[in-house]
Amino acid sequence: MSAKTLFGTNGIRGVVNQELTPEFVVKVGVAIGTYFGGGRILIGHDCRTSNTIFLYAITAGLASTGCTVLVGGCAPTPALQYAVNCFKLDGAVIVTASHNPAEYNGIKVVGCDGTEIPREEEEKIEKSFFEGSFTRSAWNQLGSIQPFPGVIDTYKEAVKTHLDVEAIGRTPFKVVVDPVNSVGGLVTPSLLKDLGCTVVTINAQLDGDFSRPPEPKPETLGDLSATVKALHADLGVAHDGDADRCMFVDEQGTVVWGDKTGAVLLDYVLKKIGESTVVTPISSSKLLEDIVKRNGSKLVWTLVGSTIVTHTMKDMGAEVGFEDNGGFFYAPHQPVRDGALAASMMLEVLAKSGKPLSKLIEDLPKYALVKERIECPNDKKPQVLAKVLQQTEGMNRLTIDGVKIFFDDGSVLVRPSGTEAIYRVYAEAQKEERAKEIADWGVTLVTKAL
Ligand code: MG
Repeated sequence: MSAKTLFGTNGIRGVVNQELTPEFVVKVGVAIGTYFGGGRILIGHDCRTSNTIFLYAITAGLASTGCTVLVGGCAPTPALQYAVNCFKLDGAVIVTASHNPAEYNGIKVVGCDGTEIPREEEEKIEKSFFEGSFTRSAWNQLGSIQPFPGVIDTYKEAVKTHLDVEAIGRTPFKVVVDPVNSVGGLVTPSLLKDLGCTVVTINAQLDGDFSRPPEPKPETLGDLSATVKALHADLGVAHDGDADRCMFVDEQGTVVWGDKTGAVLLDYVLKKIGESTVVTPISSSKLLEDIVKRNGSKLVWTLVGSTIVTHTMKDMGAEVGFEDNGGFFYAPHQPVRDGALAASMMLEVLAKSGKPLSKLIEDLPKYALVKERIECPNDKKPQVLAKVLQQTEGMNRLTIDGVKIFFDDGSVLVRPSGTEAIYRVYAEAQKEERAKEIADWGVTLVTKAL
């Protein structure tokens, strides 16, 4: 958090009792309540040790501005988002730090459409916060605080309506679920059992200390991989701390990157619902473009950030969204990342194809990826970008975030890092040597500009 902003790419984040103190969070709650201007606001949370403190702090802030606070409890972010839409509430505040380590917590603000509010709305909350321009309700007009049960059951039933439940039920799947001791464990295991799967869980007891880092990636999913192998399971499913993301382990125990499983899901979904618009950040693989093209659909690239994907989907009426970190957005359900929907849809893909996940991955177009980093002082980044843009003028390129140049047999993304004093170069091509060649060319673009 810098001096004049509160929100990062996914809400407000910070270390407990450092950036995120109770008094800070009460004030954030008052600013959010002022922004909503009353109405019925759902509050929910993941399983972090600090959640009760911040839940009370936010609740106090919201109710002091006249909002009715509906306490939805411990639930996945997509379940709370779904409830806002389904019960026609005015918004939600979710206490979660998503994939961040245990010492962090955070706050996500959801509007009346069930999506995280866009940047321009966050700015209104920030303005109110920093100016101290707050609604202060009279003593007899304070908001009430009421229990709001049923969030998880409603969500689970809604996910099922988008699935071919019969097809999944015909195959005797064995699935291992690793919800990182958090809210995914309240939904995914029972949902998959309802679908007829044999479910084994690891890291499923609710525990804010987390048995593994909450970000699901190959380095953190060793136990899941080993369990899938040892039990000869068909699939491993891993969520992050608030279960809006889902990573998969194939039947051989290999943790598969989100771009590949996303491509498998996307290919299936586009065949299922027909010609569609797909939204993905500029950092995603060309593999996605291949899948979208071969299904006669349209691909829209955006800046990196799940909220940006969501709002672009809404603006364009897109059906599907995708992020390579395990984010899958399916608008017929809701245009937000949804871990349980992704997990159960993957089972439908396996059931309908009759193939194991490793085979579906093998069948995808292959790309070699080369990643490079070039040191560049932050103050020089804009002039470097200007020169890179000059040098690539007239080429087949996108300039949404840095510059991404497309070739017939590959692509390269050259973009300044938002958090480090470096430029990143991501090159991919069907052949390893060609990916290296394109990466070198991308690196030269930056070094010449420096
Ligand atoms: Mg998350």
